[in-house]
Amino acid sequence: MANNEDAFKKVVSHAKEYGFIFPSSEIYDGLGAVYDYGQLGTELKNNIKSYWWKSMVQYHENIVGIDSAIFMHPKIWKASGHVDAFNDPLIDNKDSKKRYRADVLIEDHIAKIEEKIEKEVEKARKRFGDAFDRDQFVHTNARVLEHQAKIDDITRRYSQCMNDNDLAGLRQLILDLEIVCPISGTRNWTEVRQFNLMFATQMGSVSEGSDTIYLRPETAQGIFVNFLNVQKSGRMKIPFGIAQIGKAFRNEIVARQFIFRMREFEQMEMQFFVRPGEELKWFEYWKAERLKWHLALGIPAENYRYHDHEKLAHYANAATDIEFRFPFGFKELEGIHSRTDFDLSRHSEFSGKKLQYFDSELGENYTPYVIETSIGVDRTFLAVFSHALKDETLEDGTTRTLLSLPPVLAPYKAAILPLVKKDGLPEKARAIFDSLKHDFMLQYDEKDAIGRRYRRQDAIGTPFCITVDNDTLDNDTVTVRERDTMQQERVAIDQLDSYLHRRIKPITID
Ligand code: ATP
Repeated sequence: MANNEDAFKKVVSHAKEYGFIFPSSEIYDGLGAVYDYGQLGTELKNNIKSYWWKSMVQYHENIVGIDSAIFMHPKIWKASGHVDAFNDPLIDNKDSKKRYRADVLIEDHIAKIEEKIEKEVEKARKRFGDAFDRDQFVHTNARVLEHQAKIDDITRRYSQCMNDNDLAGLRQLILDLEIVCPISGTRNWTEVRQFNLMFATQMGSVSEGSDTIYLRPETAQGIFVNFLNVQKSGRMKIPFGIAQIGKAFRNEIVARQFIFRMREFEQMEMQFFVRPGEELKWFEYWKAERLKWHLALGIPAENYRYHDHEKLAHYANAATDIEFRFPFGFKELEGIHSRTDFDLSRHSEFSGKKLQYFDSELGENYTPYVIETSIGVDRTFLAVFSHALKDETLEDGTTRTLLSLPPVLAPYKAAILPLVKKDGLPEKARAIFDSLKHDFMLQYDEKDAIGRRYRRQDAIGTPFCITVDNDTLDNDTVTVRERDTMQQERVAIDQLDSYLHRRIKPITID
């Protein structure tokens, strides 16, 4: 693709044109940072959720899944710390009147310096060829070291401000770094203020005396408050996990990156309960395991990186992000946090119910420690979708738009295409459709020339096209065309089911 911005625009327009993602309430000019999933987007999203659910719940005998309500007792958000501390520092540019997250402005500034380092690395790689040693280069090259020293200095000041909740310090850092508003180009900044991200609403009619409740900003708390229910009813033994997929809501200050940052989104979270003292071992385990999950999708490893946290949230004693190379740069896709016994202890304190576990092997009661893995469905969608979308030039000089999704995630697994709309081919094709539809999501298409139909399927990521032609009527075989290689082979109709099962393998880890 021409450049990152064009690539990102293409992602957004392709998603809309083919029925993956629409702006919410579009006929009313949309609603900020809220999106609807269309007919194909819903399939892809469901497949992502199913891949996660299977790899967490089905493949682990000690992880179970729940579905807790979005509305929860308001005290939960007091106990969790969200009422007091779920804030983002915001800053406005007085000239453009645009609002920014102060922390994001600083992180973007750091990312720009990192890009400079990468440019030096790329230049050197070209110069030295096979003999290039990246590690040695970044530790010895004067220019790189200078950039790195700047990053270290900014990171130190930034972490200090965030840890001390020093809003004036954050503003000063923005001024010292001479960060300008991308719209007005000026450094005319307001003070930094804290902004709580939770949406509040009212439960019960006002005359009854209504209560302020919050739309949950994360699914995790629904797991913590059900810890005892699940542990006891499922006779779960530590270490064990509880997984959940569900909607979360955050009144994000800056929401300009399509489905990367939404106000209503979906999370896939798993809380893993362990013995106190063993949490860092399990943190390392899940950190490695979650990266394997991403790599199993077949996206090359260079698109992922860990980002260990300098500033730890109030509940964590270790935290890392798995970042993905989105069209707008490396950004967080998933968080892995060692949450200590913070949540269970706080809920014990606020509810007055003891949330403990009796470890029969140790013969003692304790409050379990927790490792959390937390990933956004929508960000995974964006990662997979943006990586899969390409313009390809074919041998004959023509181009095609290709969405090379992993087959297991693709909305349609196969398209059934009668070569022409006569001679009994549509009837034969429909019979094949009916024989496979219980096992596979399929599309039937008889409109336009076959080449155009192939292109349509390429653009929506269908891994296989099954074409019914005149020979099919004679010998009960069809042509199967593979999306990525465009190679075709003849397959007997009664073998199609096993052929597709074999080719659309479930993703396995290890
Ligand atoms: P960020 O720093 O990007 O705001 P976060 O650190 O607040 O993210 P977490 O609270 O760790 O995010 O949430 C876990 C995961 O939920 C994130 O890794 C991301 O995939 C997803 N997520 C969080 N906020 C949003 C959002 N506004 N829109 C879409 N996905 C989100």
